[in-house]
Amino acid sequence: MSDNLGRGEALPIFIGNVTKTYGKVFALDDVSLDVKQGEFMTLLGPSGSGKTTLLMVLAGFTRPDHGSLKFGDREVIRTPPHKRDVGMVFQNYALFPHMNVAANVGFPLKLRNVSGPELAERVEGALETVQLGGYGERGIDQLSGGQKQRVALARAIVFEPRILLMDEPLSALDKKLREHMQIELRHLHDKLGMTTVYVTHDQREALTMSDRIAVINHGKLMQLDEPRTIYDFPANTFVADFIGESTFVPVSVSGGKVSYDGTALQTATTPDGAGKYNLMMRPERLAFVSGKKPKDVNVFKGTVSELVFQGESFLMYADLSDGTQVAVRGATQKDAMANVPEVGAAVSLGLHKDDTVLIPDTGDLPA
Ligand code: ADP
Ligand code: MG
Repeated sequence: MSDNLGRGEALPIFIGNVTKTYGKVFALDDVSLDVKQGEFMTLLGPSGSGKTTLLMVLAGFTRPDHGSLKFGDREVIRTPPHKRDVGMVFQNYALFPHMNVAANVGFPLKLRNVSGPELAERVEGALETVQLGGYGERGIDQLSGGQKQRVALARAIVFEPRILLMDEPLSALDKKLREHMQIELRHLHDKLGMTTVYVTHDQREALTMSDRIAVINHGKLMQLDEPRTIYDFPANTFVADFIGESTFVPVSVSGGKVSYDGTALQTATTPDGAGKYNLMMRPERLAFVSGKKPKDVNVFKGTVSELVFQGESFLMYADLSDGTQVAVRGATQKDAMANVPEVGAAVSLGLHKDDTVLIPDTGDLPA
């Protein structure tokens, strides 16, 4: 067995200034990012943002126009895919329909000249890892969608790659199974410890699974941070809008002071310039205020224009004094619902200063 097809330790990944164009389209535009050893990193972005292209660069199926790629301290940009020691899982499973489960899972081992009892043992081990022990003799068409995806995963990990790449592996599954598999995949990653790069366009999936999230738009890296930081402190309006729900309220900034409608605001971040800023309001961070203004809370007055019961939460729209319509979300326990004002009523909305986050207005709101 050659040294680069090893069953070795997880490796960190260093992506340096990678650009890939197709004609005039920049599928990747000067992307640099590092994935730590054993990290679960998610590439998150809308359709066409360059996620698959970046994954294909990592796998070796796409050669970028320029840039560098290191696995550990080894430059691999010219290394062919089969010598990169990378496991891959695709959206549509890409299983061989005419082979049974064991033959599918054993395929990468056969390529690596593993045979006989060792092959059988490692195939069964991989199947047990994905909770399909004893399924080896089944035909692919006898499996459910979730089971097919587990087989694809077993095939990707059977040779114990140092790096695991997954491109929207759960998007063909229904919501309940998808949410179950998100947690299962994360546990599997923690158990196996491989450096994992996971692609999704689903922001909730990214928040659920990742150590860090790289948000990509038009082939450019928008932000790279842990889920909580991405959600609470988005770097720009694109990230703030793409992840979670938010309303943007224009505020004025001068001399480091922030105000809305003539009233000074307490903020979590200090704007560094006098540029254009929006205040990001997450619907679930707004609370109803009655009576005196609570300490450390900014209060916004408005009128309720819409109220919708959505089961686990209610959604309210309120018009602020400058005409901005903000969304408010709250829990639907009986006690909480009793305090919700009706359509047409005046409402005071409180936002804690720690949730009062300003976003530079970079004019890149998604359509
Ligand atoms: P995502 O996976 O985020 O949906 P892709 O990486 O597939 O995005 O595509 C990024 C951009 O590159 C898109 O504009 C897409 O049309 C273009 N693109 C990707 N692959 C090719 C290709 N083989 N030929 C031409 N254009 C491509
Ligand atoms: Mg894609």
